[in-house]
Amino acid sequence: MRYVITGAGSGIGQAVATLASHTADSAGTGPVRLALLDRDAESVEAVAAELRGTGAECLPLVVDLGDPAAAGKAVEQAVSAFGGLDALVSNAGISSADALEDLSLDTYQRTFDVNTRATFLLARAAFPALRDSRGAIVATASISATHPTPPLGMYSASKAALKMMIQQMAVEWGRHGIRANCVSPGPTDTGLTRGSFGDARDAAARANRRYREAVSPMRKIARAQDIAEAVLFLAGPRAGHITGVDLPVDGGLSLTVMPLT
Ligand code: NAD
Repeated sequence: MRYVITGAGSGIGQAVATLASHTADSAGTGPVRLALLDRDAESVEAVAAELRGTGAECLPLVVDLGDPAAAGKAVEQAVSAFGGLDALVSNAGISSADALEDLSLDTYQRTFDVNTRATFLLARAAFPALRDSRGAIVATASISATHPTPPLGMYSASKAALKMMIQQMAVEWGRHGIRANCVSPGPTDTGLTRGSFGDARDAAARANRRYREAVSPMRKIARAQDIAEAVLFLAGPRAGHITGVDLPVDGGLSLTVMPLT
């Protein structure tokens, strides 16, 4: 399998890349090829170095996906290096902690540029290669795409737009054999959430974590690997007739309307 994975330097993207590298041999399809995109050079180089140890072929690409020219160029580099592409995992995302009344236009724009527009530009650049391979697109949305989540600025709106864009791709590109799906995580232990509930040294973060665990039907926060399993399922042949879905991976949190006790 040949993948482009964005946000591969950390959290869910790193977990997707790691899991993909370990599934290569059992599939018997030769070395897995991973184009690892991230704006953080140090982390993405480190992930690439580690995964080469599993036999995976890794191409780390340092790009700011907020730059409209960079996304397409990176996909073209990957397609040319691997001779094609089987799956685009558009996972990189950002959030802000701004109340709407304080949200700057720059933050508004940046949120949509990275969380929404980049997926369109990546997917459009990947389209010819995915049509040739009858490949798949998986985007990381969020339960915030369907449940407004204050105070995260335009995060929820950008993810809702992302989800509809993926469904539009599913409908328009299905006739070319391309599948397009979303995974929607609930609270997940990654760099993105370290400040709010991931830092065990911080009392407020610990209290926030306990609250999030208490309101979750499964009484726990996800690990990045939990999300990665779902992403790779949707990216691979076992999901060959699944397209246009938004798969919540949230321990049932999005089903609840009242905090549990
Ligand atoms: P993370 O911060 O650990 O990882 C995100 C990665 O994306 C980082 O390596 C970062 O450098 C990279 N990135 C950010 N902006 C970029 C840009 N402009 N260009 C290139 N790379 C960029 O966060 P994560 O939790 O692994 O987030 C992955 C996805 O999951 C995001 O889309 C996020 O919105 C979504 N998500 C996360 C949670 C959660 O609780 N962690 C919940 C729902 C959805």
